[in-house]
Amino acid sequence: MSDDAAMRLEAVTRRIEEARRRAGREDPVRLVAVSKGHGVEAIRALYDLGVRDFGESYVQEWQEKAEELPRDIEWHFIGRLQSNKARFLADQCAYVHSVDRRKLGKVLDQRGEEIQRILLQVSLGEEESKGGVDPSKAGELLRQMEAFSKVQVVGLMGIPPYVEDPEENRVHFAALRRLCEELREDLTGRDDAGAEAFRQLSMGMTNDLEVAVEEGATMVRVGTALFGPRSY
Ligand SMILES: *Cc1c(COP(=O)(O)O)cnc(C)c1O
Repeated sequence: MSDDAAMRLEAVTRRIEEARRRAGREDPVRLVAVSKGHGVEAIRALYDLGVRDFGESYVQEWQEKAEELPRDIEWHFIGRLQSNKARFLADQCAYVHSVDRRKLGKVLDQRGEEIQRILLQVSLGEEESKGGVDPSKAGELLRQMEAFSKVQVVGLMGIPPYVEDPEENRVHFAALRRLCEELREDLTGRDDAGAEAFRQLSMGMTNDLEVAVEEGATMVRVGTALFGPRSY
């Protein structure tokens, strides 16, 4: 079991490193192990191998598992979020990747004691079922978030359509990177510290992580390649 986990982790790490090298990148890429649909034992096996970043998509499932797991795990919430559930995430998640409307920022701002780091989820390739703000509205949403003193927007997240050939998603990843650069530029001058912090690009999954890393992903969200198939 944990031999399997070690082999899978090594394979994913190698995929990321090779893509980084191909792209000539020197900045780090953070591997977020997406553990939705997998139990605490599987999470612990990766934890014991040094992984500290785990991603979950459902609030209740995450809460039940987090209770049984070490406190130094950095949780990344990556699922679609209802505003009445967002309050459970405040201060408990290192990053909330899936903020796509003002209301979610407001709830995180009001319910949290500490600064909550978030990413704005942008819809890619008209994949509306997966949520995300339209790219043309992302700047407006970013400005709205500036009103919330306990919310810090650190970047953008995107989920492109599932495709057989990951090369097809290169255009979407490149578009998300350009949008991130534009928004950072827009922040510069108005909020220099905010611009400095606004650098994260959460994109790339099991099927397309190489292309995402080549296009500038700073966080990849990988489930299947680390844990095997999910039960749902
Ligand atoms: C499930 C999920 C992932 C992981 O997908 P895999 O294909 O299993 O790597 C990544 N991001 C989001 C938003 C997800 O819901």
